[in-house]
Amino acid sequence: MADDAALAATRTTCPYCGVGCGVSGLAGAERTLSVQGDAGHPANLGRLCSKGSALGATVGLEGRLLAPVIGERQASWAEATALVARRFSETLRRHGPDSVAFYVSGQLLTEDYYAANKLMKGFIGSGNIDTNSRLCMASAVAAHKQAFGADLVPGCYEDLELADLVVFSGHNAAWTHPVLFRRMEAARARGQRHVVIDPRRTDTAEVADLHLPLAPQTDVRLWNGLLADLIRRGAVDRGYIAAHVAGFAEVEAALAADDQSPTAVAVDCGVALVDLERFFRWFAETPRTVSLFSMGANQSAQGVAKGLAILNAHLATGRIGKPGACPFSITGQPNAMGGRETGGMANTLAAHMDFDSEARARLARFWGVRRVAERPGLKAVEMFEAVADGRIKALWIMATNPAVSLPDAGRVREALSGCPFVVVSDCMDRTDTMDFAHVKLPALAWGEKDGTVTNSERRISRQRPLFAPPGEARADWRIIADVAAAMGHGEGFGWRSPAQVFREWARLTAYENHDRVLNLGPLAGLTPAGYDALAPVQWPVKADGGGPPRLFTDGRFQTPDGRARMVPVRPRGPARPTDAAFPLALNTGRVRDHWHTLTRTGLAPDLWRHTPEPYVEIHPADAEAQGVAEGALTRVQTAQGEAVAVARLTDRQRRGAIFLPMHWTAAYAPSGRANPLVAASVDPTSGQPEFKHTPARVRAYRETWRGFFLAREGWAAPAGLDLVWRRIPHPACQLHEFAGRGDAGERDAVRAALTRGASAEALRYEDAATGGLREAFLDAGRLDRVLFTATTGALPPRDWLAELFGAPALSQADRIALLIGRAPGRAVDDSPLICACRGVRAAKIEAAIRQGAASVEGVGEATGAGAACGSCRPEIARLLAALRLTEVRDAA
Ligand code: SF4
Repeated sequence: MADDAALAATRTTCPYCGVGCGVSGLAGAERTLSVQGDAGHPANLGRLCSKGSALGATVGLEGRLLAPVIGERQASWAEATALVARRFSETLRRHGPDSVAFYVSGQLLTEDYYAANKLMKGFIGSGNIDTNSRLCMASAVAAHKQAFGADLVPGCYEDLELADLVVFSGHNAAWTHPVLFRRMEAARARGQRHVVIDPRRTDTAEVADLHLPLAPQTDVRLWNGLLADLIRRGAVDRGYIAAHVAGFAEVEAALAADDQSPTAVAVDCGVALVDLERFFRWFAETPRTVSLFSMGANQSAQGVAKGLAILNAHLATGRIGKPGACPFSITGQPNAMGGRETGGMANTLAAHMDFDSEARARLARFWGVRRVAERPGLKAVEMFEAVADGRIKALWIMATNPAVSLPDAGRVREALSGCPFVVVSDCMDRTDTMDFAHVKLPALAWGEKDGTVTNSERRISRQRPLFAPPGEARADWRIIADVAAAMGHGEGFGWRSPAQVFREWARLTAYENHDRVLNLGPLAGLTPAGYDALAPVQWPVKADGGGPPRLFTDGRFQTPDGRARMVPVRPRGPARPTDAAFPLALNTGRVRDHWHTLTRTGLAPDLWRHTPEPYVEIHPADAEAQGVAEGALTRVQTAQGEAVAVARLTDRQRRGAIFLPMHWTAAYAPSGRANPLVAASVDPTSGQPEFKHTPARVRAYRETWRGFFLAREGWAAPAGLDLVWRRIPHPACQLHEFAGRGDAGERDAVRAALTRGASAEALRYEDAATGGLREAFLDAGRLDRVLFTATTGALPPRDWLAELFGAPALSQADRIALLIGRAPGRAVDDSPLICACRGVRAAKIEAAIRQGAASVEGVGEATGAGAACGSCRPEIARLLAALRLTEVRDAA
């Protein structure tokens, strides 16, 4: 049986982060799916994190868009395609090529990206196609292009294991790239050192050998200080510089403009001198060093400068193109790299070509068009500004949710609502962005898509279908090709399969290619069977079908003279400094078990247990100054907007800075959305927004009452009331948490809305003195709705009540206990959930530690926590350290 299952499994690739893990999926009846890590995939060697492990819970058809929709009515593909083509063609005729735009996504496959870019830049003739990858790694792309001559990632995952020192610069790998972090944890056990440069003491920092909690936006100062120190020590590689690098003298001269003494650097960066000197010494003494950088570096108005400062340190020491030594930008999305390759960014053409006349002419020859776009298009933030001011009159959004994910998201909503024609192609019917669509086009989801993605180490992998396309959903490349044909460009878009698109793309990378590293030429002749069977391969692809693991091994770069460029960079403050009105620096980012705007991970109830609702991390001293208590609802305010989140007081957060996760949408927490608060400041070169620094303040919310509501379906907040409202999926029901600042009238209005149409069989307890209310409604013996509210005191835990929705009928004992909210005879553990895979909470882990479990592995043996995907291992380590500290203190 097991062998049969193994034979029937399909090898595909995880749709979440840039690690690009191989997944082995076994589809069953009624779209059930079991997944496990693909042991043969070089990115993950069989491992998956919590998100990848939960993929099976996300492939149902709940909430899917399964047919084209025009306005509010279902339409045929022929009608929808014709309408999109006509409106785009009319807009082009009247207003020119730059009056239209595509906003695309790192969720698209390379074939989709290629088709979208070809239509916009080649046939429409505008550069106005940009990808949401602009939000996560555009600064690294710009730094690569300046330093290496092209957007080339030098290293490979093997380097992360071969390194003796790994520096994580603004990179919480334990949460954002968990499987790679597992690989580095194993290397650390063999002696590898970890240094984390991050204002927050993240889980990656918690278990590191050294954490530098630098002041926000001082990264350039720190990396420049490191380079100055390397020069002082004589630790730069003069031979490598002489042979392979230009610009060293200019950088050295620029460093002299600032006091580069370790003392001055430590003061400016807000870190302890002893820690800074230790980092400098370790870096100088360790030839095998990898410097990882990710959103913490890139999402900044000085993101390019940060990237260049990191690259400078590596070029000056010759630590590039060697085993275990490189700067390494890690991408956030599954196919951010594919977008970078195919020209999904507004400021590049396909196949790493720029907008020079030679490259444009080459592309025109290849595509058989008169001319391609003459100049770069609008980058993401600029694009939506152009939508707002009417320059863009027709917009096509593919597989992304800008109404949630862009900075100053409130203005983005206003822009979308005023745009004359908005098309959204997506697999989901209801996203915040879909609300603005004039035409909705149903796209395939993960598990149905068929194509390729490229991960952070330049490795191309296949995403293969596990299910037949549902309803009328279609592949994105085909939707684009059909619209292109309806616009009169059928000759350039006549593909009948993703393999044909891929072959054309591979041919383009090799076309008149005399010096571009990105080359997939040997794959241009893949047969359909060869494409189906394509094994993971790194580019540039060699004639034998393999690819080199690392670039620049011969010291040659893709610049005209073959030399890398060191570029002088000076430290600057944030685009918008804090002030008396907004004294805190708001930093936004991810949580462990969620992905982007929840359209996919939101479908997996297990992934909600770790972080069920929006929170704001605040240093205890900052919280005390504003009367904010642990666990209290807290208003986070910026000049752009306000969100309400649960306060988490922690010294893992620097004083003067706060952190708010970015995932929540109107569908799950209308008042808990982070990005409407973020200022739309961007890096002047890369256009990447400064998600990591917006001046902010916090205030206590001071609710007068709270409640929760359980129902089989998700409910929106009752209209017309100013409530904090959250929806949290459970396996058999939806939990809604809410709070208000009104009086009995508000409570009555909420009760009326939530009990309207409820069954007559009800259990009720009401305390008139306090306004407390507990109601449960049963329908044919099954629990149908539960409503608890309180003006004082705590409400009972929700888990048991939520479980009861899965029961076919309630027992008499359950009925009696319903309004108490606690299972008869069962101890309640409402401590934080640590291990999502095995459902292990903190209290159980702490009990195991007290009973003798002395290591993460020991806790795993005793409780099961951390023994599956391993994403919670750093949190278990933190609990272990905290309890040991308590024991030491008690003993003293
Ligand atoms: S680390 Fe997790 S989210 Fe990223 S690709 Fe692997 S399984 Fe998917």
